[in-house]
Amino acid sequence: MKRRTVLGSVGSLLSVGALAYASRDPVNRIDVRFWLSERAATYDGVVETVDAYLATALDLEWWSLEVSFGGVVSVSTEDGAAVTTGGEWPSRVIAGSVGRGDVDPVADVNLLVTDGEMQTAPTGYGLPHVASVGGARHLAAASAPDRQPDPLPYTTPNRVAQVLVHEVGHALGLDHDHGVAYRRGDTVVATPMLSTYAWDPDYDGRPRCGSIASERTGDDRRLACAFSECARRELETYDGGLPL
Ligand SMILES: [Zn+2]
Repeated sequence: MKRRTVLGSVGSLLSVGALAYASRDPVNRIDVRFWLSERAATYDGVVETVDAYLATALDLEWWSLEVSFGGVVSVSTEDGAAVTTGGEWPSRVIAGSVGRGDVDPVADVNLLVTDGEMQTAPTGYGLPHVASVGGARHLAAASAPDRQPDPLPYTTPNRVAQVLVHEVGHALGLDHDHGVAYRRGDTVVATPMLSTYAWDPDYDGRPRCGSIASERTGDDRRLACAFSECARRELETYDGGLPL
């Protein structure tokens, strides 16, 4: 989840597309496609869980949403962050965008789900239109968000599912300060872009979407699948993805 300011050639390459289209209008449709690594594909139920969380988090009134499963891909690492920061997954997506290789990308979000560990950050990564995240074994154990209380109980499968939504948020241009934590009754609820940073004493983000300082000490934790109001306002300005 940790963001680094220097992304090297991968970030530069992707930002060329973004610059070329800087003045587009907001879109009324987004396409989100996800793939599983070979090890992620060994668990039952991952596809259904990923589909359910993406459909819930991105079901917003100003666009129609198309979520699709792209298939199983062979990658050299299950590390959900390194597969993107090292360039492998972005390179596969870019190659696919010009008709090479076995990945058929979509314009807006291309998400790879691996079986990488989810204890030590970074566990995933999101660049414009390209993201990856580990935790397939936990996603296999997660229930769809509409079959659980809202906000979600703080469990490992739910935390991992929220990190998945978090990385997709990065792929659509959101940053950590679009996330908030708020109090509901005697619980503290973290939205996807803030995620467990809500309870991290070392997190020094200055939220543009409201204070989190007074909310960070609560122990009765809950996780929202939905983006914050402020994040949703930012998504409403999203103006398109990769030129395919
Ligand atoms: Zn992040």
